[in-house]
Amino acid sequence: MIKRYPTRKIKVGNVEIGGDAPISVQSMTFSKTKDIKETLNQINRLYFVGADIVRVAVLDKEDALALKEIKKSSPLPIIADIHFNYKLGLKAAEVVDGLRINPGNIGGKERVKEIVKVCKERKIPIRIGVNAGSLEKRLENRYGQTPKAMVESALWHIKLLEDLDFFDIKVSLKASDVIRTIEAYRMLRPLVDYPFHLGVTEAGTKFHATIKSAAAFGALLLDGIGDTLRVSITGELEEEIRVGEAILKNLGLREGVDIISCPTCGRIEVDLLPIVKKVEKAVKNIKKPLKLAVMGCVVNAIGEAKEADLAIACGRGYGLIIKKGEIIGKYKEEELLDKFLEEVKTI
Ligand code: SF4
Repeated sequence: MIKRYPTRKIKVGNVEIGGDAPISVQSMTFSKTKDIKETLNQINRLYFVGADIVRVAVLDKEDALALKEIKKSSPLPIIADIHFNYKLGLKAAEVVDGLRINPGNIGGKERVKEIVKVCKERKIPIRIGVNAGSLEKRLENRYGQTPKAMVESALWHIKLLEDLDFFDIKVSLKASDVIRTIEAYRMLRPLVDYPFHLGVTEAGTKFHATIKSAAAFGALLLDGIGDTLRVSITGELEEEIRVGEAILKNLGLREGVDIISCPTCGRIEVDLLPIVKKVEKAVKNIKKPLKLAVMGCVVNAIGEAKEADLAIACGRGYGLIIKKGEIIGKYKEEELLDKFLEEVKTI
């Protein structure tokens, strides 16, 4: 059982982050935010796949002006991602559910004060997002792009907000590799009680990003570190959510379907991969805890799939459906998968 680090609870729209709140999964649109139609299209795609929160980039005035319309139709809480420009931060803060902005980089205390005033009035949080690749020069010169520099940067930004009595904060410390990411989060964790947004930045395409994120988040979540997360995958949207949810599910931090498929061996009697893929597709939106097994022969499968709530054992020309180790049906190959999926629905 993972014991989560006790963090302060904040809220992004109706989604709680930190404390005893479930670990949320978020993503970011890659449309130009001023393209309201496409941005909403991407937000809806994320919503339907199960995202909890979405972030949009605000690069200019047109993007900021589009937020009102986007917010009106979005089924998900919106975080505006702003770099350096406090005027955009102010505009966005009037509309959205959270900001990602680094207060030290927006041009002085007065500007931070203005943003904090709006965030306080609207009760919206600020995420301090430290990236190893864009650290303040003084820190990079002193420590390099190291976890130490990342943590120092986060503490400096945090203090700017705390000095203004603002504590509605979450923090991310992203590097593009697993080790620095883990070290930075571990180093900061005992020093503050703000919730952490986990991420590995520039993680790469699906294969690499999945491995990097699973390794980094796995280590951190097992330590009880992490309150919300984003898996960054180049050019993917829905996959970011699916991978994030899968990491949580495999650590027992979120309920859902766990599909076991046999590794295959010389005893295999069917072409198993297309069957597994069909099962995966058919159950991908089920959020209930369910262990399904898809096995490639009928002889050994009964024993090997004993732990599953429901298993399918595919033999030559026919197959078995097994419920918690007991055979409940024997069907011809052509009807086996449908019968299995029908049974999944009943349980
Ligand atoms: S279920 Fe059958 S085919 Fe699959 S690994 Fe076990 S023995 Fe081999």
